[in-house]
Amino acid sequence: MGFRELIGQDEALGVLRRTLDSGRLAHAWLFAGPPGVGRKTAANGLAATLLCERQVWDGCGECRSCRRRMNGNHTDLETIRPRGVNIRIEQIREELIPSAQRGPLEAPYKVFIIENAEALRTESANALLKTLEEPPASCVFILAAPGPRSVLPTIVSRCRTLRFTPVPSNLIAAWLEDKHGAAPGTAERLARYCAGRPAEALELLKHPERLDIRAPANRWELMTQAEGWTSKREDALENIRVLRAQLHQELVQPSGAADRAAMAEAISRLYAAERAVLGNVRPRVTLESALLPALKQ
Ligand SMILES: [Zn+2]
Repeated sequence: MGFRELIGQDEALGVLRRTLDSGRLAHAWLFAGPPGVGRKTAANGLAATLLCERQVWDGCGECRSCRRRMNGNHTDLETIRPRGVNIRIEQIREELIPSAQRGPLEAPYKVFIIENAEALRTESANALLKTLEEPPASCVFILAAPGPRSVLPTIVSRCRTLRFTPVPSNLIAAWLEDKHGAAPGTAERLARYCAGRPAEALELLKHPERLDIRAPANRWELMTQAEGWTSKREDALENIRVLRAQLHQELVQPSGAADRAAMAEAISRLYAAERAVLGNVRPRVTLESALLPALKQ
């Protein structure tokens, strides 16, 4: 996973390339954008570049450092993910900070990728903040989050923010066909369906059964997802919009769905849910009331 696999993020890549060429690398980055558009892929590309013994863009793939990274056992690359719902303070205090203080052991840099940085609660974020304020030499921190507002402003102010945007569907369709062997019709459909998220399109290509939103298992999955959209307004809005785009794609399929009326109803409820969230009604309450009636049918 690296820059080679990234599509439709030329602007972000341009910024990274110019920064690396200038030799004035920021020590902390916030890769902001919806999940599935390429933030983590780009984070891995930057890590690959920084860890490579030859410092080649996206890693040469041949040196010892690149091979270790590709085997998933590079001592100078650490990925921090939520344990449960949150990134816990112990993960920052007992793991990240001591490791950052030790610095790189083999490569020119030590790279920390913090996936789902929105899962940093205040306590953990404050612990991380001290390290970002006085970063140990040769450490680079890459935080991935839906947007700057989903992370504490004090953290954001210490990071250089790079925006990752939804990818145009024609690029996704071509990528699915060329790189992943999708049939043209399938590629086009998935590209429309995934709301600009290549990772989502690829998941659906691997698990076509998930495309059938009418299947009970998928409704269950939607409900489970909704359970996770508890408190964050920005995430809830994003999810509402994506789900609505997906339902809309299903609705306009010429194959026709048996329960078109239920889907149309769900779409209109999702519009209402969006308005409610914008009006500061708690996302969880809103989403449940929006989704439950439509999905129960
Ligand atoms: Zn290399």
